[in-house]
Amino acid sequence: MGLGSVRKTVLVTGAAGFLGSHLVDRLLAEGFEVVGLDNLMTGDLANLENASRDRHFHLEIGDVRETIKVYAEIIFNFACPASPVHYQSDPYATLTTSVLGALRLVEHARLRRCRIVHASTSEVYGDPLEHPQTEEYWGHVNPIGDRACYDEGKRAAETILRDAVRVHNADTRIVRIFNTYGPRMAFDDGRVVSNFLIQAMRGNPITVYGTGQQSRSFCYVSDLIEGIFRSALATEFDSPVNLGNPTEFTMLELAEVVMKVTGRQLDIVRKPLPADDPKRRCPDISKAKRLLEFAPKVQLSEGIARTYENFQARLG
Ligand code: UDP
Repeated sequence: MGLGSVRKTVLVTGAAGFLGSHLVDRLLAEGFEVVGLDNLMTGDLANLENASRDRHFHLEIGDVRETIKVYAEIIFNFACPASPVHYQSDPYATLTTSVLGALRLVEHARLRRCRIVHASTSEVYGDPLEHPQTEEYWGHVNPIGDRACYDEGKRAAETILRDAVRVHNADTRIVRIFNTYGPRMAFDDGRVVSNFLIQAMRGNPITVYGTGQQSRSFCYVSDLIEGIFRSALATEFDSPVNLGNPTEFTMLELAEVVMKVTGRQLDIVRKPLPADDPKRRCPDISKAKRLLEFAPKVQLSEGIARTYENFQARLG
């Protein structure tokens, strides 16, 4: 599917969120007619400031759990709270957004024959026992833990989307998104990158949970969006596909990067490790490289510097 002379319409659910809004901007830049759907549970209209000045963007305030009324050739399903503080604040809403949202979209896609690109997550691997995580790994998830509403919701959504291929011959594409950061992250999302940056900007101590030796692999948002875009348009796709940056950092190493970029030397205070906090997380992106020629480019220090600039501009 490419761009012909007539604009193709795409729908982005979760359009006012961090990733959804960056995706909207990219799709508009690529010449699509973009409909954004968001219930504003965690999304922020300020993220759509650029998009709302574009006459090819249309916003609908609504919920992916309700019937979808928009006709679109591709649906990007990014509707779901994604940071632990947000998704745990209303676990039923989180779970139902994933599960009922996927059911609604599959029902819609079956009738309208449209493609669905679904934002799944590295959280489907839980606290992984295999490292790095390939798409073949089934994961290690606590079904009754604090993270279960998100992890199990996203796992069930994958089941729904895969069964739609088997049962209805639907065109669904599942991408598993690993930790992503960048401009527009919510200040209050409790994520490690936003917390450390805000703490550095205020000259407060940096809060490291547990030993700080747990690892994550941070992908800058433009690299991730490139992977999503390629996933949507690729002629060959084979769900699921990991998308992320495979360079792994401990939280103590991240704290060092944040201090260097912001030019602040700060104390580190230890806080308890949240329940079921994964110890290591790092994507194996061989499949994305092979299928999509996906190759993240932005180094952590560069991406943190750009995010810092955005945080400074927003905080005034
Ligand atoms: N973390 C931390 N300090 C903070 C916030 C988070 O040390 O102020 C740790 C957290 O325990 C986890 C890692 O950073 O090990 C990433 O947490 P985040 O919430 O950003 O994402 P996720 O756990 O979903 O990967």
